[in-house]
Amino acid sequence: MRIKVITCLLSCIVFNCIVPSAMYGDPKNLNQQEDIMERQRLLEKMETLTGIPWAYLAAIDQYERNIKRSRRHTKKQDPGLIAITIPPNKWCGILNPDQEDTSPASIRFFGGMGMDGDGDKKADPNNAFDVLYSMTHFLQERGVSKDDIRIGLWDYYQHPVAVDVITHLAKIYTVFHTMKLNERSFIMPLRSDYSYHNTWGDRRGFGGLRIHEGTDIFADYGTPVLSTSYGYVELKGWNRFGGWRLGIRDGQNNYHYYAHLSSFKKGIKQGSVVKPGDVIGYVGSSGYGPPGTSGKFPPHLHYGMYKFNGLTTYSFDPYPYLKSWERKAWRKLRAGQKHRRNHG
Ligand SMILES: [Zn+2]
Repeated sequence: MRIKVITCLLSCIVFNCIVPSAMYGDPKNLNQQEDIMERQRLLEKMETLTGIPWAYLAAIDQYERNIKRSRRHTKKQDPGLIAITIPPNKWCGILNPDQEDTSPASIRFFGGMGMDGDGDKKADPNNAFDVLYSMTHFLQERGVSKDDIRIGLWDYYQHPVAVDVITHLAKIYTVFHTMKLNERSFIMPLRSDYSYHNTWGDRRGFGGLRIHEGTDIFADYGTPVLSTSYGYVELKGWNRFGGWRLGIRDGQNNYHYYAHLSSFKKGIKQGSVVKPGDVIGYVGSSGYGPPGTSGKFPPHLHYGMYKFNGLTTYSFDPYPYLKSWERKAWRKLRAGQKHRRNHG
């Protein structure tokens, strides 16, 4: 009974205080950046009420947002303020004969996780607030420490990549205190001597026939390699194709792969958090053999970009992104020079 009273009280407080007005408006009219800030405010208030850190809720939302985007049938739909979708068997309870059940009482009876978050006496899986509230409650039942949340994520997703990605996204958001992490950097200092063209999909012979998944940026040994995004270092070490390489997860759940490095930036390790423009390593020609192999091809950086769609990881062409970041970096540099000329 006590729990029920608290739950009801909580949902009333939540409903009156934090359901944002924009939720009832057309989400398409919202400026994307405002949308992100509004989502963050909602999640921060959720943290105050439940103890589940907002960064985890943000990471779950971002993870599901990417999955929705990468699955073709939902590509055109805007997921709105909260992108989390809880499937019917989880929402209603797997043994519930009514897989469209919205009655909180019978859902609870069948062990479903669906709850009423906005106080309308219905547990509606299409109501963003009910969904967020149900997800938060699901995690809260297992505890609010980092380890507890990992267990909660595992219980919910049953997929190690999902648990890792969400945990890493949460760390990025925690370190920078924001989800607004869209800034990008070009991959090398503009004044360094580099060149690249579109090598996406070229055939590669080493280690069996492979398709080239990335862009090669040719530059001298030791040219600094810059992180293109905010991110979490998921991978550091040797691979017989990539040589010394780094894998970095960004705040939008893209995975950036930097290979053939001559060395890493000092202090970079698995679990480090980086921002756009941070030096992460140096151009080399490592790879195509056992650890330490180098010089089997001219020095260059291999850069790949990947997405995870909930089941598998797939690569996409980084070349147009590099071109656009390079253009923006030049524009920013020239604007800075002009500003200095005009203002002494
Ligand atoms: Zn390459």
